Amino acid sequence: MISTRKFLRVLFGGGLLAPFLWLAGKRKSRKAAFLWQIDPDKCIQCGKCETACVLEHSAVKCVHQYAACGYCLFCSGYYQDKRVKFDTAAENLRCPTDAIKRTYIEDPYFEYTIDESACIGCGRCVKGCAAYGNGSLFLQIRHELCKQCNQCRIAEICPSHAVIRVPADQPYIFKRPPEVKT
Ligand code: SF4
Ligand code: SF4
Ligand code: SF4
Repeated sequence: MISTRKFLRVLFGGGLLAPFLWLAGKRKSRKAAFLWQIDPDKCIQCGKCETACVLEHSAVKCVHQYAACGYCLFCSGYYQDKRVKFDTAAENLRCPTDAIKRTYIEDPYFEYTIDESACIGCGRCVKGCAAYGNGSLFLQIRHELCKQCNQCRIAEICPSHAVIRVPADQPYIFKRPPEVKT
């Protein structure tokens, strides 16, 4: 009969634990092989990305695909529909946290950049840009913030099934230009 001391030596020497360690390694590598990400062409900017993430401050932020931007004087992602006038007073702006910075380029063009530390992922600017502009603003899960939960809370409740798993070596999905959309 095997002694207690011998049993423990075999156990912690890796003998009996080997299958479990192998399984844990497989699970870990499977988790690392895929990441959660938003398909911007499916997202309808419902607003749930702001509040559904398990983090206190959502891992979802607005990002800007500059190549698609019109650098508009009157950006519909920046300005409210019902603005009093086109100035930078908070009541005229769409973003509730002043996370969009507007910089003059040359007449009549302005550049719009997102301060991700202030962005709460509400998607209001994305909705405005998609409705009246080029759709160059979109929501993205930022991987340096995301905890890569086994089951993403946002994916569970997203009404358009826009939160999907992507290969870790292709962690971002960018907007497709309108001409190649199917
Ligand atoms: S929950 Fe889905 S549809 Fe709503 S903002 Fe997030 S990704 Fe878009
Ligand atoms: S409107 Fe919402 S999603 Fe857009 S930059 Fe501001 S906080 Fe971020
Ligand atoms: S995987 Fe977790 S941390 Fe990442 S976006 Fe989803 S709920 Fe937030």
